[in-house]
Amino acid sequence: MLRMAKEVEMKQFLFNHWYIIVLFLLISIGVFLLIYKNKRKSKMHVKSLSSVRMDRWIFKNTLLYPDGKVIFTELSEGQKKRIPDYIEVLRVAHSSDVPRPSFSNYFCKEAIGPVGGLKLAAGNIEYGVCKALHGEEAAVAAFRAYYRRKEKNQQIVLGIATSKEGKVPRLCGNCRDILFDEFGLDLEIIAGTLDGGLATVTSMRDYLFDDFEEFRSSCIDNELFSYYVEMRGHWG
Ligand SMILES: [Zn+2]
Repeated sequence: MLRMAKEVEMKQFLFNHWYIIVLFLLISIGVFLLIYKNKRKSKMHVKSLSSVRMDRWIFKNTLLYPDGKVIFTELSEGQKKRIPDYIEVLRVAHSSDVPRPSFSNYFCKEAIGPVGGLKLAAGNIEYGVCKALHGEEAAVAAFRAYYRRKEKNQQIVLGIATSKEGKVPRLCGNCRDILFDEFGLDLEIIAGTLDGGLATVTSMRDYLFDDFEEFRSSCIDNELFSYYVEMRGHWG
């Protein structure tokens, strides 16, 4: 009797509070749909990275020699892990609308960012009378504006859009200086065309052919150079 009374009581409770059940069902369906949608989205993202974008560029590590010789080698294991970042930085570079080459009409589309972080669009800006901010300088400025300074042990990638497959970008002395000062020897410069194909991955190390010590004794006043090295510590 007692059991039956309890059952009746329960039924009565559910009947009176039917909206709680409906609400519970609706929330469950909502949560399920949300999880399903996110799972599908991440699956599609991985698919787009592996089947479409990954196939678009074939990345090769690039070694430069002072005599102009260029050698392509397979990516190291560490570099292979950075392929999604190489793809992203080239994608942002190609879609960059920063360049404004009023005089030369030569577009340098670039992008920069840390591995695993947002990549920022950059490019050359010409102004005044034949004056120009180079694409690499603009990239450093964009990085400083957004990220302030590079964190210790952070790997930075610079993407440069090229029109020729397998081309290693030529950087002027000024840009080598500012890139080296800001990001050090481990900066990687990625270059590739919009259509894909062979894309180069070159370390900043390879852009500095001269031995620094040799350079010091031959070209620069020793005292001035010591001061420069000392100051660099303070800037960092
Ligand atoms: Zn330059």
